[in-house]
Amino acid sequence: MTGKPPASHSGNKPNSVLGQDNLSFETLTPEELEALRKEREADHFHDECGVFAISGHDEAANIVYLGLYALQHRGQESCGIVASNGREHTAHRAMGLVADTFSDKILKRLPGRHAIGHVRYSTAGSSSLRNAQPICVNTDAGPVAIAHNGNIVNALVIRSELEGRGSIFSSTSDSEVILHLLARSREASLEERFIDALSRIKGAFSIVLLTDELLIAARDPSGFRPLSIGRLGNSYVVGSETCAFDLVGAEFERDIEPGEVVVIRRGRIRSIRPFSRDTKSHFCVFEYIYFARPDSNLNLTNVYSYRKELGRVLARELGVVADLVAPVLDSGTAAALGYAEEAQIPYETALIRNHYVRRTFIEPAQSIRMFGVKVKHNAIRGILEGKRVVLVDDSIVRGTTLLKIVAMLRTAGAREVHVRISSPPIIGPCHYGIDTPTREELIAHDHSVDEIREIIGADTLGFLSLEGLHRVAAKEFKRGICDACFSNDYPIPVDPEQQLPQLSLFRAVEDEAVDDD
Ligand code: SF4
Repeated sequence: MTGKPPASHSGNKPNSVLGQDNLSFETLTPEELEALRKEREADHFHDECGVFAISGHDEAANIVYLGLYALQHRGQESCGIVASNGREHTAHRAMGLVADTFSDKILKRLPGRHAIGHVRYSTAGSSSLRNAQPICVNTDAGPVAIAHNGNIVNALVIRSELEGRGSIFSSTSDSEVILHLLARSREASLEERFIDALSRIKGAFSIVLLTDELLIAARDPSGFRPLSIGRLGNSYVVGSETCAFDLVGAEFERDIEPGEVVVIRRGRIRSIRPFSRDTKSHFCVFEYIYFARPDSNLNLTNVYSYRKELGRVLARELGVVADLVAPVLDSGTAAALGYAEEAQIPYETALIRNHYVRRTFIEPAQSIRMFGVKVKHNAIRGILEGKRVVLVDDSIVRGTTLLKIVAMLRTAGAREVHVRISSPPIIGPCHYGIDTPTREELIAHDHSVDEIREIIGADTLGFLSLEGLHRVAAKEFKRGICDACFSNDYPIPVDPEQQLPQLSLFRAVEDEAVDDD
């Protein structure tokens, strides 16, 4: 990535209000912002964050670095690590990928046996380093850092309430609200103050907090986002997905339960249930469908197997006579395999994906048709010529990418293209930690299946039914699941005034700040 702003590297300095450390305020270059805008128009929801933490390890920052490396798919805009040596915190955050951000030299500057880290995806409007996490502060009870995955639905209300009482916010991220609440809490210990702060917020949080002696991990009572605990020798690790445990060689111990707060101190772990127990679990079904890595296990279920099963049910619901089944790479791979197995149609990788495409690339002056999609995918003529193809993907958001891929298959000689989607039509945005467009931008919001078929240029189009999704997720539905973007059944109501796209939550505030600059 070019034009990367200087990273934030700071010791634990006392400073104003909450003691936000010295972040620089540069944003992405105009080219990168434009690339990001294009990427956001692609045909997928984007997960927003991943967190990883370790308590009690000599190479804490290195291990967190590796954990974040495995969680890179959960956020590619910015990343950061905060380490504690028991007296002070040291932070390093930057815009960009984990591999580009951290070097051996930088990791050596993050001493201590405890560390937390964060990868973040954000909207273009808030792609600035000031919103990178972990967020560090000094409180009267010592240094505190948090890394948060999720979205706080009453953040705007709390923020204006706190600003009315004199709080000054350093970022436009909803997560900062938690630290302001913690700083103002009248509870005695940092642990109690954190719980007090969490009890004031509504929405989704899978969060880790680091003090000079404690690592605390907590999940909201609905359990929207995943969070698991593992063991690495005598150390505890906490991470958004189990694939991160595999990379660092940690043993999965268990998932943190919805509404549970886990306190880790000097090698001992304590579990607290401070929130009301009557809330049903609402784990995000989209984590299974698309967000999580296929090699992760969510609620003890392997994601890859789950996606294959979605494909099998899809084939039973929407069979079609065809010569081959091909996935949109990589999102449709597991479902396409399941579809092919169930329908007994050969599976072929008819599209090849270039894995080395960076976000920005130089286009030729004379424009090439569909350059954006072509640079990432290419269809294999030898496989597609004269064939009836079932093209499988996990979801359709705007339909923009699929339209181009269908056209690409036809250009490569496909006789028929039957599109099958391994989830129901997305009819509503997410308010619980996923970057989604507005309702109006979702193609299925105001188009019938046949209208979408016509727009993308397919011979036939079929989505997995909501009943089919519930059937595959029967075990998960029993525990309680969120499928609001498919069903419009939002488990935590959102004030219509606050129904802004995710992470644009503070766009209005940010725009004001930019104007002030
Ligand atoms: S609305 Fe959709 S993306 Fe958001 S938490 Fe619910 S299922 Fe997941």
